Amino acid sequence: MSGDFEILYQPLVSSTSNQVSGAEALIRWNHPEQGRISPALFIPIAEECNLIGRVGEGVLRQACADAAAWTAPLRVAVNVSPTQFDDPGFPLVVTQALSASGLAPRRLELEITKGVFLAESSATDETFKALKKLGVRLALDDFGTGYSSLAYLKTAPFDKIKIDRSFVRGATADDVRNRAIICAIVSLANALEMETTAEGVETFDQLDLVRELGVSHVQGYIYYAPLEKAEFVTQAEQADWGIEPSGYARQRYERIKMYRKIGAIREDHYYTVMLRNMSQTGALIEGLIDVSVGTQFVLDFGEGQLEVATVRRSPGAVQGVKFENSLVRDGDGGLCTRSRISPFLLIAAGLPDYSASTGPGAVIGERGSKVSLPTFLSATDRRAIIRMGEER
Ligand code: C2E
Ligand code: CA
Ligand code: CA
Repeated sequence: MSGDFEILYQPLVSSTSNQVSGAEALIRWNHPEQGRISPALFIPIAEECNLIGRVGEGVLRQACADAAAWTAPLRVAVNVSPTQFDDPGFPLVVTQALSASGLAPRRLELEITKGVFLAESSATDETFKALKKLGVRLALDDFGTGYSSLAYLKTAPFDKIKIDRSFVRGATADDVRNRAIICAIVSLANALEMETTAEGVETFDQLDLVRELGVSHVQGYIYYAPLEKAEFVTQAEQADWGIEPSGYARQRYERIKMYRKIGAIREDHYYTVMLRNMSQTGALIEGLIDVSVGTQFVLDFGEGQLEVATVRRSPGAVQGVKFENSLVRDGDGGLCTRSRISPFLLIAAGLPDYSASTGPGAVIGERGSKVSLPTFLSATDRRAIIRMGEER
């Protein structure tokens, strides 16, 4: 695989024993100028440009080779895009990756999304049969999102259902619907003799809940964020690798008050500021000084959510801003912008990879390219300047 791409591995953990059963391979693109770019941004582009076949094959070969070299016989899960899966040559690609690496087929788990079924090509059934014959495992990814249909479970021979993060996120709220949905998915999976993995478990209350509901596996920051290969290998060398969960006790529904780094764009500068508080109509940001009332920023909340905001108050390094369009509830106790900007436009505009950093409170990455002098100093720059002055 080209040196611009890197694969991270995130442990998949048994919910009852905390033992690691495998890892999901998650690709990152190390862009020479923009830094690490999230797959959520570039995979859709690779699909559109017909490059996904090559990228996907690279990930598959590398992940099989890596897993074959692990001292413990852990499983490796690889994401397969619908376009890749639709190619009649896909089973052969899998066969070759297995034989080149010597990995036992049962150790390879292919994660497939509902997009595979939307294509409805006749190749799909044949591909499922061929993969089953090879002996690889199949997981239905992001279950419950979009137009998920139970018919998929009837026709395709899955070994595992991955319960989408959106259900886990809301499941400990007073709203009991997500909890009921997880419960139903688990019953269904048990009846069909499939395993389950809860995605995106970050806090102890979420972990307790998915355990209580009988979800068999957990993937999330409460155990580990995706790890660099070397780190994963070091950890995986322990016999019977178990991980003690660690994280916040409970999910904070007041996410909107949580300290979080976001981007503030003004002219051609990308400043990183701390979001201190937020309502539907405005926010409090911190980190820039000498910003006059009336200044307009485009705030970048991540995941394509941008909103124009005007400074109404500016005491010291804190600004109270008002949004041009008020935010809407995201159904999970948080707020979101009314629309999202496409990944094409974001990359073209040189915006950084806000989703690449991992771990609790993931924040946006480095500042984007600088073309002229910034209009505002960051509060940390000012502290550095004051310190320099004191030393003299
Ligand atoms: P996914 O398959 O749903 O992968 C899980 C995503 O959730 C990963 O994002 C992972 O880092 C993130 N995650 C794991 N635990 C937590 C948690 O506790 N909290 C939160 N907030 N997030 C968590 P990542 O690595 O950015 O990947 C995004 C998506 O890109 C993946 O979603 C998958 O659809 C796609 N992707 C990644 N690698 C590949 C690949 O090699 N091929 C293809 N076709 N798609 C890939
Ligand atoms: Ca996945
Ligand atoms: Ca998923």
